[in-house]
Amino acid sequence: MTKRLTGFQPTGNLHLGNLLGAIRPLVVGQERATETIAMIVDLHAMTMEHDPRTLRACTLEVATLLLAAGVDPKRTALIAQSQIPEHTELHYLLECTAAHGEAARMIQFKEKSAAGGPVRLSLLTYPVLMAADILLYDAQEVPVGDDQNQHLELTRTLALRFNARYGETFVVPEGVRPESAARIMDLAEPTRKMSKSTAGEAGRIGLLDPPETIRKKISRAVTDTAGVVRHDPEHQPGISNLLAILAECTGERPGIYPNYGALKRDVTEAVDALLAPIRKGHAELSEDPGYVREVLAEGKTRVRPAALATVRRARAALGLLD
Ligand code: ATP
Ligand code: MG
Repeated sequence: MTKRLTGFQPTGNLHLGNLLGAIRPLVVGQERATETIAMIVDLHAMTMEHDPRTLRACTLEVATLLLAAGVDPKRTALIAQSQIPEHTELHYLLECTAAHGEAARMIQFKEKSAAGGPVRLSLLTYPVLMAADILLYDAQEVPVGDDQNQHLELTRTLALRFNARYGETFVVPEGVRPESAARIMDLAEPTRKMSKSTAGEAGRIGLLDPPETIRKKISRAVTDTAGVVRHDPEHQPGISNLLAILAECTGERPGIYPNYGALKRDVTEAVDALLAPIRKGHAELSEDPGYVREVLAEGKTRVRPAALATVRRARAALGLLD
Protein backbone atom coordinates (compact mmCIF):
# COMPACT_ATOMS: atom_id res chain seq x y z
CA MET A 1 0.00 0.00 0.00
CA THR A 2 1.33 3.41 -0.89
CA LYS A 3 1.71 5.89 1.90
CA ARG A 4 0.76 9.48 1.15
CA LEU A 5 1.15 12.64 3.11
CA THR A 6 -0.57 15.98 2.50
CA GLY A 7 -0.04 19.13 4.54
CA PHE A 8 -2.23 22.18 5.11
CA GLN A 9 -1.04 25.41 6.64
CA PRO A 10 -3.41 26.72 9.29
CA THR A 11 -3.25 30.24 7.98
CA GLY A 12 -7.03 30.56 7.66
CA ASN A 13 -9.32 31.32 4.75
CA LEU A 14 -9.38 27.87 3.13
CA HIS A 15 -10.79 28.41 -0.34
CA LEU A 16 -12.21 26.69 -3.39
CA GLY A 17 -8.69 26.26 -4.86
CA ASN A 18 -7.56 24.35 -1.74
CA LEU A 19 -10.67 22.18 -1.94
CA LEU A 20 -10.35 21.28 -5.62
CA GLY A 21 -6.55 21.14 -5.76
CA ALA A 22 -5.76 19.41 -2.48
CA ILE A 23 -8.64 18.37 -0.23
CA ARG A 24 -10.68 16.56 -2.85
CA PRO A 25 -7.74 14.55 -4.21
CA LEU A 26 -7.03 13.56 -0.61
CA VAL A 27 -10.63 12.46 -0.03
CA VAL A 28 -10.72 10.54 -3.32
CA GLY A 29 -7.36 8.94 -2.49
CA GLN A 30 -8.59 7.58 0.83
CA GLU A 31 -11.47 5.88 -0.97
CA ARG A 32 -8.93 4.00 -3.07
CA ALA A 33 -7.55 2.61 0.18
CA THR A 34 -4.28 4.51 -0.05
CA GLU A 35 -2.81 4.97 3.38
CA THR A 36 -3.04 8.69 3.98
CA ILE A 37 -1.87 11.16 6.54
CA ALA A 38 -3.45 14.62 6.50
CA MET A 39 -1.35 16.99 8.52
CA ILE A 40 -2.04 20.49 9.71
CA VAL A 41 1.38 22.07 9.62
CA ASP A 42 1.01 24.50 12.50
CA LEU A 43 4.78 24.81 12.98
CA HIS A 44 5.13 26.06 9.41
CA ALA A 45 2.62 28.79 10.21
CA MET A 46 5.08 30.15 12.78
CA THR A 47 7.77 30.98 10.24
CA MET A 48 6.17 34.39 9.67
CA GLU A 49 4.80 36.87 12.22
CA HIS A 50 1.84 35.15 13.87
CA ASP A 51 -0.78 35.62 16.55
CA PRO A 52 -1.03 32.71 19.05
CA ARG A 53 -4.83 32.89 19.45
CA THR A 54 -5.38 33.00 15.71
CA LEU A 55 -3.01 30.08 15.18
CA ARG A 56 -4.85 27.91 17.72
CA ALA A 57 -8.25 28.82 16.27
CA CYS A 58 -7.08 28.26 12.68
CA THR A 59 -5.58 24.86 13.48
CA LEU A 60 -8.91 23.65 14.84
CA GLU A 61 -10.80 25.37 12.02
CA VAL A 62 -8.72 23.65 9.32
CA ALA A 63 -9.17 20.28 11.07
CA THR A 64 -12.93 20.89 11.23
CA LEU A 65 -13.08 21.88 7.56
CA LEU A 66 -11.10 18.83 6.46
CA LEU A 67 -13.53 16.58 8.33
CA ALA A 68 -16.52 18.49 6.92
CA ALA A 69 -15.09 18.11 3.40
CA GLY A 70 -14.95 14.33 3.68
CA VAL A 71 -11.69 13.39 5.37
CA ASP A 72 -12.65 10.17 7.14
CA PRO A 73 -10.68 9.75 10.36
CA LYS A 74 -11.14 5.98 10.17
CA ARG A 75 -9.17 5.83 6.94
CA THR A 76 -6.99 8.93 7.15
CA ALA A 77 -4.84 9.88 10.10
CA LEU A 78 -5.60 13.55 10.74
CA ILE A 79 -2.83 15.10 12.80
CA ALA A 80 -1.50 18.42 14.02
CA GLN A 81 2.23 18.51 13.35
CA SER A 82 3.25 20.15 16.64
CA GLN A 83 1.46 17.50 18.72
CA ILE A 84 4.02 14.97 17.55
CA PRO A 85 7.37 16.15 18.97
CA GLU A 86 9.40 13.87 16.66
CA HIS A 87 8.91 16.44 13.86
CA THR A 88 11.10 18.95 15.65
CA GLU A 89 13.57 16.31 16.77
CA LEU A 90 14.10 14.98 13.27
CA HIS A 91 14.24 18.56 12.00
CA TYR A 92 17.31 19.22 14.10
CA LEU A 93 18.98 15.95 13.13
CA LEU A 94 18.45 16.77 9.46
CA GLU A 95 19.72 20.32 9.93
CA CYS A 96 23.02 18.77 10.92
CA THR A 97 23.23 17.20 7.47
CA ALA A 98 22.06 20.21 5.41
CA ALA A 99 24.11 23.16 4.19
CA HIS A 100 23.15 26.78 4.79
CA GLY A 101 23.32 27.45 1.07
CA GLU A 102 20.82 24.71 0.29
CA ALA A 103 18.18 26.44 2.39
CA ALA A 104 19.10 29.98 1.38
CA ARG A 105 18.60 29.32 -2.33
CA MET A 106 14.96 28.25 -1.94
CA ILE A 107 12.78 30.53 -4.04
CA GLN A 108 10.07 30.74 -1.39
CA PHE A 109 12.63 31.85 1.21
CA LYS A 110 13.98 34.49 -1.14
CA GLU A 111 10.51 35.79 -1.93
CA LYS A 112 9.15 35.79 1.60
CA SER A 113 12.31 37.21 3.18
CA ALA A 114 12.38 40.04 0.64
CA ALA A 115 8.92 41.15 1.77
CA GLY A 116 10.44 43.38 4.50
CA GLY A 117 10.48 43.21 8.29
CA PRO A 118 12.54 40.86 10.43
CA VAL A 119 13.11 37.43 8.90
CA ARG A 120 12.60 34.55 11.32
CA LEU A 121 15.41 32.00 11.28
CA SER A 122 12.69 29.33 11.02
CA LEU A 123 11.70 30.75 7.61
CA LEU A 124 15.16 29.76 6.37
CA THR A 125 15.13 26.30 7.93
CA TYR A 126 11.46 25.50 7.24
CA PRO A 127 12.19 23.34 4.15
CA VAL A 128 14.29 21.10 6.41
CA LEU A 129 11.32 20.79 8.78
CA MET A 130 9.21 19.90 5.77
CA ALA A 131 11.75 17.20 4.88
CA ALA A 132 11.43 15.89 8.45
CA ASP A 133 7.60 15.86 8.13
CA ILE A 134 7.84 13.65 5.07
CA LEU A 135 10.71 11.37 6.08
CA LEU A 136 9.28 10.76 9.55
CA TYR A 137 6.43 8.67 8.17
CA ASP A 138 8.30 6.84 5.37
CA ALA A 139 5.93 8.57 2.95
CA GLN A 140 6.37 7.26 -0.58
CA GLU A 141 4.17 9.79 -2.33
CA VAL A 142 3.80 13.47 -1.66
CA PRO A 143 1.30 15.36 -3.79
CA VAL A 144 2.99 18.65 -4.65
CA GLY A 145 2.00 21.71 -6.56
CA ASP A 146 4.60 23.67 -8.53
CA ASP A 147 5.33 25.88 -5.53
CA GLN A 148 6.58 22.91 -3.51
CA ASN A 149 8.72 21.11 -6.12
CA GLN A 150 11.95 22.66 -4.95
CA HIS A 151 11.25 21.71 -1.33
CA LEU A 152 10.49 18.12 -2.26
CA GLU A 153 13.75 17.97 -4.24
CA LEU A 154 15.60 19.13 -1.11
CA THR A 155 13.86 16.39 0.90
CA ARG A 156 15.05 13.80 -1.60
CA THR A 157 18.59 15.21 -1.58
CA LEU A 158 18.77 15.13 2.22
CA ALA A 159 17.37 11.59 2.41
CA LEU A 160 19.75 10.23 -0.24
CA ARG A 161 22.72 11.96 1.36
CA PHE A 162 21.84 10.70 4.84
CA ASN A 163 21.36 7.14 3.60
CA ALA A 164 24.68 7.22 1.72
CA ARG A 165 26.68 8.79 4.55
CA TYR A 166 25.13 7.15 7.64
CA GLY A 167 23.44 4.01 6.32
CA GLU A 168 19.93 3.22 4.98
CA THR A 169 17.56 5.15 7.23
CA PHE A 170 14.93 6.96 5.17
CA VAL A 171 12.47 6.07 2.42
CA VAL A 172 13.16 8.46 -0.46
CA PRO A 173 9.78 9.99 -1.44
CA GLU A 174 8.43 10.74 -4.90
CA GLY A 175 6.51 13.90 -5.72
CA VAL A 176 3.22 13.25 -7.50
CA ARG A 177 1.06 15.81 -9.19
CA PRO A 178 -2.36 15.99 -7.56
CA GLU A 179 -5.00 14.00 -9.53
CA SER A 180 -6.74 17.24 -10.17
CA ALA A 181 -4.15 19.36 -11.94
CA ALA A 182 -6.59 22.27 -11.85
CA ARG A 183 -5.10 25.49 -10.66
CA ILE A 184 -8.00 27.68 -9.66
CA MET A 185 -7.35 31.32 -10.39
CA ASP A 186 -8.34 34.45 -8.48
CA LEU A 187 -11.77 35.68 -9.61
CA ALA A 188 -10.78 39.33 -9.46
CA GLU A 189 -7.32 38.84 -10.97
CA PRO A 190 -7.55 35.66 -13.05
CA THR A 191 -3.88 35.59 -14.04
CA ARG A 192 -2.95 34.94 -10.41
CA LYS A 193 -3.89 31.80 -8.46
CA MET A 194 -6.58 31.93 -5.79
CA SER A 195 -4.65 32.18 -2.50
CA LYS A 196 -5.29 32.29 1.22
CA SER A 197 -2.76 35.02 1.68
CA THR A 198 -3.86 37.61 -0.88
CA ALA A 199 -5.25 40.76 0.71
CA GLY A 200 -8.61 41.09 -1.07
CA GLU A 201 -11.55 38.76 -0.45
CA ALA A 202 -13.26 39.42 -3.78
CA GLY A 203 -11.25 36.93 -5.81
CA ARG A 204 -11.36 34.10 -3.30
CA ILE A 205 -14.35 31.86 -2.59
CA GLY A 206 -14.05 30.80 1.04
CA LEU A 207 -15.28 27.32 1.90
CA LEU A 208 -17.66 28.86 4.42
CA ASP A 209 -18.87 31.77 2.30
CA PRO A 210 -22.69 32.03 2.48
CA PRO A 211 -24.60 31.49 -0.82
CA GLU A 212 -25.26 35.20 -1.30
CA THR A 213 -21.54 36.02 -1.00
CA ILE A 214 -20.67 33.26 -3.47
CA ARG A 215 -23.25 34.63 -5.92
CA LYS A 216 -21.87 38.16 -5.63
CA LYS A 217 -18.25 37.13 -6.03
CA ILE A 218 -18.98 35.05 -9.12
CA SER A 219 -21.23 37.67 -10.68
CA ARG A 220 -18.42 40.21 -10.23
CA ALA A 221 -15.71 37.85 -11.49
CA VAL A 222 -13.48 39.61 -14.01
CA THR A 223 -14.14 38.53 -17.60
CA ASP A 224 -13.29 40.24 -20.92
CA THR A 225 -14.89 41.96 -23.86
CA ALA A 226 -14.68 39.07 -26.35
CA GLY A 227 -18.28 38.08 -25.60
CA VAL A 228 -17.67 34.42 -26.50
CA VAL A 229 -17.56 31.61 -23.94
CA ARG A 230 -14.54 29.44 -24.75
CA HIS A 231 -11.57 27.92 -23.00
CA ASP A 232 -8.66 30.17 -23.91
CA PRO A 233 -6.58 30.82 -20.78
CA GLU A 234 -4.18 33.14 -22.58
CA HIS A 235 -6.72 35.58 -24.01
CA GLN A 236 -9.72 34.90 -21.74
CA PRO A 237 -8.27 33.92 -18.36
CA GLY A 238 -11.40 34.86 -16.39
CA ILE A 239 -13.85 32.89 -18.54
CA SER A 240 -11.44 29.95 -18.78
CA ASN A 241 -11.18 29.89 -15.00
CA LEU A 242 -14.97 29.87 -14.63
CA LEU A 243 -15.19 27.00 -17.12
CA ALA A 244 -12.51 25.10 -15.19
CA ILE A 245 -14.35 25.67 -11.89
CA LEU A 246 -17.59 24.46 -13.45
CA ALA A 247 -15.94 21.33 -14.86
CA GLU A 248 -14.23 20.55 -11.54
CA CYS A 249 -17.37 21.09 -9.48
CA THR A 250 -19.71 19.04 -11.68
CA GLY A 251 -17.22 16.47 -12.97
CA GLU A 252 -18.55 17.09 -16.48
CA ARG A 253 -17.43 19.02 -19.54
CA PRO A 254 -19.26 22.35 -19.61
CA GLY A 255 -21.88 22.76 -22.34
CA ILE A 256 -22.23 25.67 -24.78
CA TYR A 257 -23.04 29.06 -23.27
CA PRO A 258 -24.64 31.94 -25.19
CA ASN A 259 -23.32 34.59 -22.82
CA TYR A 260 -21.27 35.23 -19.68
CA GLY A 261 -24.34 35.67 -17.47
CA ALA A 262 -25.62 32.16 -18.18
CA LEU A 263 -22.18 30.68 -17.47
CA LYS A 264 -21.90 32.59 -14.20
CA ARG A 265 -25.32 31.36 -13.10
CA ASP A 266 -24.33 27.73 -13.64
CA VAL A 267 -20.96 28.24 -11.94
CA THR A 268 -22.73 29.76 -8.93
CA GLU A 269 -25.10 26.82 -8.74
CA ALA A 270 -22.31 24.25 -9.08
CA VAL A 271 -20.09 25.90 -6.47
CA ASP A 272 -22.97 26.22 -4.06
CA ALA A 273 -23.94 22.57 -4.52
CA LEU A 274 -20.36 21.59 -3.69
CA LEU A 275 -19.99 23.88 -0.68
CA ALA A 276 -23.43 23.53 0.93
CA PRO A 277 -22.72 20.11 2.52
CA ILE A 278 -19.33 21.35 3.75
CA ARG A 279 -20.97 24.38 5.40
CA LYS A 280 -23.53 22.10 7.00
CA GLY A 281 -20.92 19.59 8.18
CA HIS A 282 -18.78 22.40 9.56
CA ALA A 283 -21.71 23.85 11.50
CA GLU A 284 -22.50 20.45 13.02
CA LEU A 285 -18.89 19.71 13.92
CA SER A 286 -18.42 23.17 15.42
CA GLU A 287 -21.06 22.36 18.02
CA ASP A 288 -18.70 19.76 19.45
CA PRO A 289 -15.11 21.07 19.36
CA GLY A 290 -14.15 18.25 21.73
CA TYR A 291 -14.75 15.79 18.89
CA VAL A 292 -12.22 17.48 16.59
CA ARG A 293 -9.62 17.43 19.36
CA GLU A 294 -10.33 13.74 19.89
CA VAL A 295 -9.81 13.01 16.20
CA LEU A 296 -6.42 14.77 16.37
CA ALA A 297 -5.49 12.80 19.48
CA GLU A 298 -6.45 9.54 17.75
CA GLY A 299 -4.43 10.51 14.68
CA LYS A 300 -1.44 11.15 16.91
CA THR A 301 -1.77 7.75 18.59
CA ARG A 302 -1.98 6.11 15.20
CA VAL A 303 1.11 7.70 13.61
CA ARG A 304 3.37 8.07 16.66
CA PRO A 305 4.94 4.59 16.55
CA ALA A 306 6.20 5.17 12.99
CA ALA A 307 7.56 8.59 13.96
CA LEU A 308 9.35 7.21 17.00
CA ALA A 309 10.84 4.35 14.98
CA THR A 310 12.23 6.72 12.34
CA VAL A 311 13.79 9.03 14.90
CA ARG A 312 15.30 6.06 16.69
CA ARG A 313 16.88 4.89 13.41
CA ALA A 314 18.20 8.35 12.62
CA ARG A 315 19.62 8.89 16.13
CA ALA A 316 21.41 5.56 16.06
CA ALA A 317 22.80 6.17 12.57
CA LEU A 318 24.18 9.55 13.68
CA GLY A 319 25.93 8.12 16.72
CA LEU A 320 23.62 9.40 19.45
CA LEU A 321 23.09 7.27 22.55
CA ASP A 322 19.70 5.61 22.88
P1 ATP B 1 -0.83 30.62 0.89
O1 ATP B 1 -1.23 31.83 0.09
O2 ATP B 1 -0.80 30.84 2.40
O3 ATP B 1 0.40 29.91 0.34
P2 ATP B 1 -2.50 28.73 -0.50
O4 ATP B 1 -3.84 29.20 -0.91
O5 ATP B 1 -1.44 28.67 -1.55
O6 ATP B 1 -2.07 29.62 0.73
P3 ATP B 1 -1.53 26.34 0.79
O7 ATP B 1 -1.82 26.08 2.25
O8 ATP B 1 -0.19 26.87 0.41
O9 ATP B 1 -2.67 27.33 0.22
O10 ATP B 1 -1.82 25.03 -0.04
C1 ATP B 1 -2.65 23.99 0.41
C2 ATP B 1 -2.90 23.05 -0.77
O11 ATP B 1 -3.84 23.67 -1.70
C3 ATP B 1 -1.66 22.73 -1.59
O12 ATP B 1 -1.71 21.36 -1.95
C4 ATP B 1 -1.78 23.61 -2.83
O13 ATP B 1 -1.13 23.03 -3.96
C5 ATP B 1 -3.31 23.67 -3.03
N1 ATP B 1 -3.71 24.93 -3.68
C6 ATP B 1 -3.49 26.16 -3.19
N2 ATP B 1 -4.01 27.11 -4.00
C7 ATP B 1 -4.59 26.44 -5.03
C8 ATP B 1 -5.30 26.86 -6.21
N3 ATP B 1 -5.54 28.14 -6.44
N4 ATP B 1 -5.77 25.90 -7.05
C9 ATP B 1 -5.53 24.59 -6.80
N5 ATP B 1 -4.86 24.12 -5.73
C10 ATP B 1 -4.39 25.04 -4.84
MG1 MG C 1 0.64 28.24 -1.07
